[in-house]
Amino acid sequence: MDEFELIERFFNRRISSPGVAVGIGDDGAVLQPSPGHDQIQVIDTLVEGVHFPADSQAEDIGYRVVAVNLSDIAAMGARPCWMTLALTLPPKNEQWLDDFASGLFAAAGEFDVALVGGDTTGGDAVVATVHITGEVATGKALLRSGAMLGDTIFVTGTVGDSAAGLELLGRGERDSFLTNRFLRPQARIETGCRLVGCASAAIDVSDGLIGDLKKLLQASGVGGELDIDRVPMSDAIKVHFDESHRTRLALTGGDDYELCFTARPNAVDGIADITAIGKITDEPGLACRQGGVIVECDDSGYRHFQ
Ligand code: ADP
Ligand code: MG
Repeated sequence: MDEFELIERFFNRRISSPGVAVGIGDDGAVLQPSPGHDQIQVIDTLVEGVHFPADSQAEDIGYRVVAVNLSDIAAMGARPCWMTLALTLPPKNEQWLDDFASGLFAAAGEFDVALVGGDTTGGDAVVATVHITGEVATGKALLRSGAMLGDTIFVTGTVGDSAAGLELLGRGERDSFLTNRFLRPQARIETGCRLVGCASAAIDVSDGLIGDLKKLLQASGVGGELDIDRVPMSDAIKVHFDESHRTRLALTGGDDYELCFTARPNAVDGIADITAIGKITDEPGLACRQGGVIVECDDSGYRHFQ
């Protein structure tokens, strides 16, 4: 199968999508931005052996490479519109490509994101790069840099599940909820869009709650206090991990793809599935509080202050 056949067969799905004047097949895609909007461009690469084990299911790789990009779009408060795909592949059978494409289009289809172009090359390992363009009303993108003294810190959903799912997989155990949280991250697009005009700053939690919250605080030039007792955890993580272990996963485990954001205390009333976990202060850095006392936290773990 040559490159042309491969693209036609697995990636050229002629779905008519808003704003796509010319999609796959020409030298470039022709896209029509919506008037009154800014564009958000995000890109993320997954490398075999680095970001996923070599024996991963092709469908999961395809899903994930779209989902991690959607999460960055969500953190900007934008709606995803179009994507391109750069795929480097060792010789692969057709089943692998079929599975990869079905995961990719499953994630893209959840938000009607059209694949409008890409590049396909041979190489020694699978490297998949997706680039997504999103749109947000002009001047309204959520940034990391807007947190202000007196804001509350929130997080969506629950954290630590993905790292928990990965740890269980490593032990040869499975919990369908936790494993799925790792394999099939759900980007918080709807919440991100609702936060526009309400939140002062936002970041998606991909490297661990503490590490990513620190990035937001630094970008905003403020400090924060995190109330560890209020960090939301799932019932499933409580079944499989004791308190100290699950707290470490929730604070420092990666790949949650939840949103951490700041807002005036009442500005986000009525938004579902969010939890207040702390507040912005004028003390530089991040202080963590547990059981009423300040504990020392760093990106790789946390321990009680002696
Ligand atoms: P060129 O030689 O101009 O770079 P290609 O032969 O690489 O063109 O690609 C032909 C068309 O197929 C282009 O529209 C390109 O965007 C698209 N394309 C190539 N690889 C992929 C892919 N993996 N997924 C989607 N579209 C692709
Ligand atoms: Mg060309």
